[in-house]
Amino acid sequence: MGKPRIVVLGAGFGGLELTTLLSEQMGDSIDVTLIDKSDSFMFGFSKLDVMFGHAEADAVRMPYSNYAKPGVQLLKRTITAIDPVARRVTTDDGVFDADYLVVALGAEYDFDATPGLAGTNEFYSIPGAIALRDVLPNFTSGHALIGVCGAPYKCPPAPSECALMLHDYLVQRGVRDNCQISLVLPLSSPVPPSPETSRALLEAFAERGIEFIPSRRVASVDNARNVAVLDDGREMAFDLFLGVPKHRVPPVVLESGMSENGWIPVNPRTLETKYENVYAVGDGAATGTPKAGVFAEGAAKAVASALVARLRQSGEAVQYNGFGTCYIEFGAGRIGKVEVDFFSGPQPTGSYYEPSTALRGDKEHFGSSRRARWFGL
Ligand SMILES: Cc1cc2nc3c(=O)[nH]c(=O)nc-3n(C[C@H](O)[C@H](O)[C@H](O)COP(=O)(O)OP(=O)(O)OC[C@H]3O[C@@H](n4cnc5c(N)ncnc54)[C@H](O)[C@@H]3O)c2cc1C
Repeated sequence: MGKPRIVVLGAGFGGLELTTLLSEQMGDSIDVTLIDKSDSFMFGFSKLDVMFGHAEADAVRMPYSNYAKPGVQLLKRTITAIDPVARRVTTDDGVFDADYLVVALGAEYDFDATPGLAGTNEFYSIPGAIALRDVLPNFTSGHALIGVCGAPYKCPPAPSECALMLHDYLVQRGVRDNCQISLVLPLSSPVPPSPETSRALLEAFAERGIEFIPSRRVASVDNARNVAVLDDGREMAFDLFLGVPKHRVPPVVLESGMSENGWIPVNPRTLETKYENVYAVGDGAATGTPKAGVFAEGAAKAVASALVARLRQSGEAVQYNGFGTCYIEFGAGRIGKVEVDFFSGPQPTGSYYEPSTALRGDKEHFGSSRRARWFGL
């Protein structure tokens, strides 16, 4: 019998951590194929740094050519079809059969769900963040509207971070007094599992004159009139629109029949799908936990432990604990932190840590430790 074939779709937070763990624990006793259409990986938070000119896109890209792990082959392919029953994956260059299949293809943006959004700016994709570097310098007066078009969306604090970073950016350019900033969010508070974090963000908004509109989403954008229409019909005129598109799994997952209402149903503790020996981790999986890199990593740990236990026929799988730490840009170089725990109690809970410049070091370590672990950089 040949080596067990594990095929992991998507080399993002989830896929990179899963394959790294498998390599560490099983080495080349297994045959792992990791497939991604891109040349490189980028942290989600780097998009905020790129849009505000704090980092060059090339400096924060981690090329997949630097990923080298025993037992793992990383291939650049675009996945065009997934058959979860046969565990067969079709790509633009070859077909891959798996004994164990893990879908870690993340979330993508559904521009068609919000009429007019495609004609304006968004900061959740790499091209969108890069394009904003040419747009933001021309904004010197008027109303900036940060508008989220649907929940769930990646990294729940990121739109709040964008508002605070935009404030700093406009202050530094000496134009803040000529500008208004509003944030429309389809959540009841900036970080619902942590009332303390939400309160701190609301105070930061109030201190800076940022208008916060909770429990609403942007339903459409009229680019001819520069007006965003909210889901209650309210019209908001803007001079600069910074959108967060509605999210869902990539089209290839939709077409595979694995998703329901935009996401892949899984057992939230084991990440098993309803298909035998097929798992889903990260943003695409409906676990009830936030769509953030730390949570994708936690899910990857659970799946790695399950696969190792099965392949060795010994040991026990650890369950996904639904716990994660998020760093939050509060502006002026200060970083806050929230630890959220989704599974321990009947309700999600959060612990809040006051923003400080010292926590910037922790956030930098969060990035540099993954960069070193996955890419040796
Ligand atoms: C502005 C912003 C700020 C953020 N800040 C944070 C933060 O501070 N902390 C945090 O933990 N998270 C943060 N996130 C969220 C984080 O980036 C995601 O939650 C995380 O990347 C999800 O990991 P994943 O493995 O599920 O998917 P991804 O990392 O998105 O990886 C999916 C991979 O699948 C590949 N793929 C998709 N379709 C195909 C196909 N058809 N063929 C081949 N390959 C394909 C993609 O190229 C991609 O590499 C932020 C996100 C944004 C947008």
